[in-house]
Amino acid sequence: MDDGSPTAASRAEVPAFPAGRVRGPVLLPSDERYLAEVSGFQSGYRHHPEVVVCATDAADVSAAVEYAAAHRLPLAVQATGHGLSVPLPGGVLVSTRRMTDVRVNAGARTAWIGAGVRWGEVVEEAGRFGLAPLSGSGPGVGAVSYTLHGGVGLLAREFGYAADHVSAAEVVTSDGRVRHVTADSDPELFRSLRGGGGSFGVVTGLEIGLVPVERFYGGQLIFDGESAGDVLEAWRWWTATVPERLTSSVTVMTYPDIPVLPGGLRGRHVAQVQIAYDGDEADGERLVAPLRAAGPRIAETLRTMPWTESWSVYNEPDRPHPYEGTNALLGKELPDRATLRSVLEATGPDARGMVVLALRHMGGALSRQPAVPNAVGGRDAGYLLVVLTVPAGSSSGEELRRVQERVLEAVAPWTVGSNLNFRYGRSAGAVPGGTAAAFSPDDHARLTGLKASADPSNLFRFHHVPLARDQPQGRHGP
Ligand SMILES: Cc1cc2nc3c(=O)[nH]c(=O)nc-3n(C[C@H](O)[C@H](O)[C@H](O)COP(=O)(O)OP(=O)(O)OC[C@H]3O[C@@H](n4cnc5c(N)ncnc54)[C@H](O)[C@@H]3O)c2cc1C
Repeated sequence: MDDGSPTAASRAEVPAFPAGRVRGPVLLPSDERYLAEVSGFQSGYRHHPEVVVCATDAADVSAAVEYAAAHRLPLAVQATGHGLSVPLPGGVLVSTRRMTDVRVNAGARTAWIGAGVRWGEVVEEAGRFGLAPLSGSGPGVGAVSYTLHGGVGLLAREFGYAADHVSAAEVVTSDGRVRHVTADSDPELFRSLRGGGGSFGVVTGLEIGLVPVERFYGGQLIFDGESAGDVLEAWRWWTATVPERLTSSVTVMTYPDIPVLPGGLRGRHVAQVQIAYDGDEADGERLVAPLRAAGPRIAETLRTMPWTESWSVYNEPDRPHPYEGTNALLGKELPDRATLRSVLEATGPDARGMVVLALRHMGGALSRQPAVPNAVGGRDAGYLLVVLTVPAGSSSGEELRRVQERVLEAVAPWTVGSNLNFRYGRSAGAVPGGTAAAFSPDDHARLTGLKASADPSNLFRFHHVPLARDQPQGRHGP
């Protein structure tokens, strides 16, 4: 992997991290634990810090922030590496993976989650009380970053964004202070953290709402890729008829030809409809029935299951790999048939490298502000289109990025914004309209105003989706 890592010669000398300031380990590049600590799910890039502070609590994070600020060193945060898009070329990495507190308050239907907690851990713990968090497609994703950037869950149309259900946050701001932030204590920061991303500090924990969902009806209808156009047309019509308690998406992709996959899917081009319905099986069956006529089905996995098995709805790969991704929030109407056909052609099996095209049904509760409004944008979106590319064989990153651009150009007349979470790798910085596209103009002005006053030296600039105008010059590989 040539990801632009600084050579030993180009590494600047950084002042020693003060001994005894933190409880967790402090790792330098010479430490044998360093590589494992900086590596994450995104294997196309990684951070190259001179110092990794393996934080165990808010005091450790505060010490790391004070050290970085005092020496004017760049700083980044990593929990799992799923959302890495601006690799740190030096400076300080705060690794939060040891901050794995999950404390459920069943009576209040809330949970306190630490900065390094993955959704899988929250789902297991909440499930013991018959409750569920607003988790998404994969158990390995970090719950805090997912929520700070909005968070589109499996039952998103019923319950809204994960950020809509945050009642308190603990955050270390650029002055090193640990702040407990609520709607009353600091309304502007509270509003901005919920959906505005991690540009305002290192969030050390969140209090999130849980919902009383123990079991649900869901899974996939898997169609042959030949009928992807018909499946999309059927889904277009069908999504206009379904209740908010049903959230679905369509993913069109060609599976790699690898032995871990079931024989029927290896190397196969497919169109999969993923469904999650918060209701009983008989109603779910009735709702899904019209979709089955969309084309010949290869397989079907729909069933009633506990929320702890909700990962089977998307059944995503859990091994680190390289990927790039971009997205567009679309209006209430999907693009016309001819446009969708051209998008399918650009992303189909003839594309070099692996291309995953996904459309998620939005609307419902996602379109309503929570009781205490937050910064999440794009509430007028009816659909979310995501294009993900995975380099394979001789495919070049540039070629695959052009596929992403072609898709975004094709759907531009229907585009109303962009989602912060579904941006990956270098593509994250190339979204048309940049970070501003994720917010209303008013919210973007409020967020950049707060950013300027809360983080005047732009300490938190090596960030997934930076807010400040001067974007960092991260190092990226090919
Ligand atoms: C396989 C997969 C499935 C996904 N499914 C969904 C889904 O269903 N719904 C959805 O909405 N999104 C989904 N995402 C997107 C995901 O929510 C984002 O990529 C998110 O940023 C990942 O957070 P992380 O902690 O796992 O990753 P990391 O790479 O560790 O963090 C991502 C970025 O968040 C910032 N950050 C992390 N921790 C903190 C903190 N404590 N304080 C401040 N900033 C912080 C940093 O800038 C960091 O670079 C998915 C991503 C992948 C790869």
